[in-house]
Amino acid sequence: MENCIFCKIATKQIPSKLIYEDDDLIAFHDINPAAPIHFLIVPKQHIATLADCDEHHVALLGKMALLAPRLAKEQGCGYQVDGQGQASGGFKTLFNTGPDGGQEVYHLHMHVIGGPKPWRGQR
Ligand code: 5GP
Ligand code: ZN
Repeated sequence: MENCIFCKIATKQIPSKLIYEDDDLIAFHDINPAAPIHFLIVPKQHIATLADCDEHHVALLGKMALLAPRLAKEQGCGYQVDGQGQASGGFKTLFNTGPDGGQEVYHLHMHVIGGPKPWRGQR
């Protein structure tokens, strides 16, 4: 897709701090992080928004969702429960959709946001 910043990142026409890549997805650090850890999981295929997805995208969306905790762990904000049942870590996942959803880049992406609090939007 011409003039799409995430298509250009996916095809390496512009650089990013890449943390993951496979045939379908890339993940890279957000250029303007809202928290100590903030990365984006992005399909290589150009899909404008979550509202443009249908049943053909179920596997892709599932893959994105399953990648989030794996990469969060690698990046230092994994969720875990210790032997005493004490939970720690964790992260927020977010799809902004459309103008009222705060979407700025119209190429589907999942935000993964975490790290020690406080950070923007979190107590
Ligand atoms: P949206 O508001 O569309 O859900 O989020 C778009 C995100 O993409 C924002 O958090 C913004 O900081 C990030 N972003 C925009 N342009 C670039 C870029 O060129 N490189 C990277 N790494 N992130 C970007
Ligand atoms: Zn695109």
